[in-house]
Amino acid sequence: MRSRFVAGNWKMNLSKPEGVALTSAIAEQKFNQQTEVVVCAPHIYLDELSNIAASNAQLHVGAQNCHFADKGAYTGEISAGQLKSVGVEYVILGHSERRTYFGETNGMLKDKVDAVFAEGLKVIFCCGEVLEERESGKQAEVVKVQLQEALGHLDASSFKDLVIAYEPVWAIGTGKTATSDQAQAMHKMIREWVAEQFGQATADAIHILYGGSCKPSNAAELFAQEDVDGGLIGGASLKAEDFLQIINA
Ligand code: PEP
Repeated sequence: MRSRFVAGNWKMNLSKPEGVALTSAIAEQKFNQQTEVVVCAPHIYLDELSNIAASNAQLHVGAQNCHFADKGAYTGEISAGQLKSVGVEYVILGHSERRTYFGETNGMLKDKVDAVFAEGLKVIFCCGEVLEERESGKQAEVVKVQLQEALGHLDASSFKDLVIAYEPVWAIGTGKTATSDQAQAMHKMIREWVAEQFGQATADAIHILYGGSCKPSNAAELFAQEDVDGGLIGGASLKAEDFLQIINA
């Protein structure tokens, strides 16, 4: 039985006092034993948030990106090792906003995945199709290419440190959620891809999250699907009340 896994992606939102208050409110909660929670915050808050999260064994802190090099002349960037040094445990890679606005390719993401694993951190890897791809029925094909090009080189043992988030791009921040049937079909396909490449035991163990306008009113139905193990939550992770309702859905 896989545990429930819910991660919040704050993106470029919240001031430091707001982020501290939100993380403190989450850290005070007692979650169901089979639940893991991650808050993925702006880099400059991660040090302090890691200290707050340390009071709750089920709460972890994540970054929203990192560089693929371990150090060097990359002005404005941050390495996986630097994130690790402030207590970060997870790094989101491949979010559609990074692919779209910052030109991240599957090849770059492959290197970032390796950089994160080299530091012993965990990856939340995002994949998903845009609207035209969905409308032309290409969603499975597109997602398989994203997975193959960024993760296909790994060995099965790395998958214990990997979470996959299926995030249809047309559902992110739009208020338009995939139906539970659409989400389940894609999650099943992703789990089958993992099984074909890395074996059934790896596929049975991996967490596959749904992301895209997930909120308190639809989380329970989405999370009830056999292959949906939780969610990557954007807008609804910014308010403690909403995020906690999703965690408990
Ligand atoms: C996200 O940014 O990963 C996301 C799912 O955003 P939202 O929940 O706001 O659609």
